[in-house]
Amino acid sequence: MSMNPKSGNGARDRLRIAIQKSGRLAEPARALLNACGLSWRESRDRLFCYGESLPVDLLLVRDDDIPGLIRDGVCDLGVVGRNVLLEQDIALRSEGGTTAFREWRALGFGGCRLALAVPEGWAWQSPAQLGSTRIATSYPAILRQWLDGQGIAAEVVELSGSVEIAPRLGQADAICDLVSSGATLAANQLKPVMTLLESEAVLAGPAAENFGQLWDDARGELAELLLRRLDGVLRMRHSKLLMFQASREAIPSLLPLLPDAEAPTVMQVDGGDALALQALCHGAVTWQRLEELKRAGARGLLVLPVEGMLA
Ligand code: ATP
Ligand code: ZN
Repeated sequence: MSMNPKSGNGARDRLRIAIQKSGRLAEPARALLNACGLSWRESRDRLFCYGESLPVDLLLVRDDDIPGLIRDGVCDLGVVGRNVLLEQDIALRSEGGTTAFREWRALGFGGCRLALAVPEGWAWQSPAQLGSTRIATSYPAILRQWLDGQGIAAEVVELSGSVEIAPRLGQADAICDLVSSGATLAANQLKPVMTLLESEAVLAGPAAENFGQLWDDARGELAELLLRRLDGVLRMRHSKLLMFQASREAIPSLLPLLPDAEAPTVMQVDGGDALALQALCHGAVTWQRLEELKRAGARGLLVLPVEGMLA
């Protein structure tokens, strides 16, 4: 399958989505698009997957290339970490460019944070301590912007990988890097002290209010269809069906604990004053919340995953 990058700027009747070829976001991105009803015929070079169920094709690339592909119109949408999107956006604007892309949806996977970490031996008090230090990072634009905002004059040492060993190699005093469990930091005798950015995978697209402003060919409607399905999938992903029993008197104190539930179903239980309740909750159903419900009079609480819903 040959691709003409120039065609990205002209009218197209197929939507093109860039995702990571291999790496942390590759599989979950595919699985999410699959859950939205998309399927592809794989090509042998595996750089381009032709959409079968809908005219939505995939381009498999390095994550760092995704914002640029969107900016250049080669791809219409992409799945990329917020960290990458923001880094390139700040870098572009600091070179005098305008914002070319934006986050259309947060996707709920690939969670991590961009954190500042210092050697374990440092007695950390405040960011002011970073003055005249060298900080190694692969995110120079985000770090620079944060340092400027704090009024800290530190030197940013840009490294493309292995940032966490820079202090031991004497290349830097501290680092700014992505952290999920913190195990890598600990293994390098570093400790996280500040979070600069909470990140996760996002659906990225061109900067615009709505898709209608972007394309007047078939892509606008395809992108809207995809977004509607995506919202449905993301919403159900965290939804739980909560079932329990309670006395009629307990209902007024139970309902405020279910602010995210759709109108709960209340049923009479045979031979008693107990009621059975069924509520579809769209927020997190945590242990703490279950305990609060129990204290408010809920009995026999059951939490069930929801596989699908057609309203
Ligand atoms: P590529 O070959 O595509 O350039 P990469 O090595 O840059 O791959 P990955 O390591 O696969 O990328 O990470 C992709 C994204 O996963 C990151 O940009 C980030 O948003 C997210 N992520 C989640 N947890 C972590 C983590 N612990 N370390 C690094 N990235 C993480
Ligand atoms: Zn990368």
